[in-house]
Amino acid sequence: MTARGAVAAGLAVVAGVTLSACTPAGPRTAPSPADSATARRSADSLLVERERQRIAGEAVRTAPRARAAWTCVPQPVRPLPSPATRAERTGYCETSSSADVAAFMAELPRVVAPGRTLHIDTIGRTGEQRPILRAVACAGTSCPDLSRPASKPVLWIQGNIHGGEVEGKEAVLALLRDLLADPKPNALDSLVLVVVPNYNADGNDAFGAQSVLRTEQQGPAIVGKRPNGANLDLNRDYIKAEAPETRAMLPYLTRGVIDVFVDLHTTDGSYHGYALTYAPSLHPGAPLARWTQDTLLAGVRTALRTRGIETFPYGNFSAEYGREPLTDSVKSGWWTYDHRPRFGTNYFGLTGGISILSEAYSHDPFARRVAATRAFLAEIATRVANDPGVVRRVRAVRTAMLTGRAPRDVALAARLVAAPRRDTVLVEVLVPDADSSGMEPGVPLGLRRTGRMRAQEMPVRDRFDVVQRGTLPSRGWVVERRDTALVALLRRHGIPLSAPLRTETLRAEEFVLDSVVMAPRPFQGHREVRLAGRWRSTSLTLRPDSMWIVPSRGLGAYIAAQLLEPESDDGATTWNVLDDRLTPGGVHPVRRIPDALPDRGVRSGAAR
Ligand SMILES: [Zn+2]
Repeated sequence: MTARGAVAAGLAVVAGVTLSACTPAGPRTAPSPADSATARRSADSLLVERERQRIAGEAVRTAPRARAAWTCVPQPVRPLPSPATRAERTGYCETSSSADVAAFMAELPRVVAPGRTLHIDTIGRTGEQRPILRAVACAGTSCPDLSRPASKPVLWIQGNIHGGEVEGKEAVLALLRDLLADPKPNALDSLVLVVVPNYNADGNDAFGAQSVLRTEQQGPAIVGKRPNGANLDLNRDYIKAEAPETRAMLPYLTRGVIDVFVDLHTTDGSYHGYALTYAPSLHPGAPLARWTQDTLLAGVRTALRTRGIETFPYGNFSAEYGREPLTDSVKSGWWTYDHRPRFGTNYFGLTGGISILSEAYSHDPFARRVAATRAFLAEIATRVANDPGVVRRVRAVRTAMLTGRAPRDVALAARLVAAPRRDTVLVEVLVPDADSSGMEPGVPLGLRRTGRMRAQEMPVRDRFDVVQRGTLPSRGWVVERRDTALVALLRRHGIPLSAPLRTETLRAEEFVLDSVVMAPRPFQGHREVRLAGRWRSTSLTLRPDSMWIVPSRGLGAYIAAQLLEPESDDGATTWNVLDDRLTPGGVHPVRRIPDALPDRGVRSGAAR
């Protein structure tokens, strides 16, 4: 059996459905031998040309892809659970609208087994005023209100941040139902499960054809669009926090009430052998990132493999995220995406929690993606519930952050690891084929999938090196009240601000700007800013009526460093919050106080 076959077989067991039915359909007529030969030559020449471009160091053109429409043959789920998700009701042909999600959740209370509790509420509203629904499930008679850390581990699962990446929403709703309805002991006895199945409800309901909105995805035929209603990509918004969805979510991410945060997505890109790829927080300053990757997720991977489900750290056969996922790029290795905290899981890792990015495989049919995501989530829930060491790690890190015992050095900028590890990666063999054009969403024109996997050892770049390190200033940062956009941003991130107790002059550090570089092209409505400069010592007069002090300890300390430090590669400066205060030769408006509180007897700081 090929690896692909093993994956399919394992998933079929998990899902309880036959997975072969939902495949892209289309006319398939036998080509003439002459047609085939011509097409093979053109496919070969395409590959040769791309290899030439690569060797010459030229930007490699992305091959044209099939924009095929996926056609579903309904595969009834029997017995049909109650309540059933729209995916289940339609035999994995359709995905839930926001109204379907609400109706499903409204029915959940009637299936809750004795000894379990379900609360349903909202964390806020989308830009188009749809409620962002949340379910909190636990054992006992009431669940924690999440205003403070709970005694049990809190596992928070978020679906559908990218409308159109829909299987997470369906998988987590079904998992929630089955855990709640199950009278036997299960993970709910030992953790608090929080589910926000349809985070980007506006994007979800902006329905359109998959062949337009998710061109590389095997169904459903009708899906939502990636950004929110205001066309913001919510998974680039966690630092600038412009979207109402982000603003609703940030208090939970920053308050220390979530121990494990899982964000559900669908990949597109390379043809590999994994039903699901995953990542921890990729920010090198996230305290538990390495442990999450190498221990927790490695264990999940091993467990799923015994059930025939292959998973691997997220990546593509590519030198650049999302580009040219073709057979000829395999030699260059396996590349992950990005470390910056504008991505939710990268952000959350900086609060001391465990972050997990889940990416179901867009080249797998919808039903298989639902099954893979569900199996992945169930395995995480089991581990968080059964291993007290998981939550103990999070709580220990956070206690250290709150008491100031956490490491004071902080990663401010990073780049993909220079010395990658080597690992064996499953590669699907694609072959030139005249008859493949337009048959399956996303397959490059002139190529055909074979379902055959080969294991190839290659460099795996799935983590980041720190290129700019900083130190948390002992007392904190000083921001000026007139920088109202910056102050508002800090408040959105839950960063506490305190007024100086008195007017006093003390030693400070300021960043002299040598250059201010603005990105030539806009991104998410911004032109990102990068600074070069140097720190110098200065004296600063603190003024209670015009300044705030931002403390450098607490759960928000590492996030505050990203937001405030001029050398951060994803902070307030990056997103144009301080544009009118940045002049080459001038100083950055955020100052650092390197010495501890003067009344603790550490150097200078006498009131004048
Ligand atoms: Zn996504």
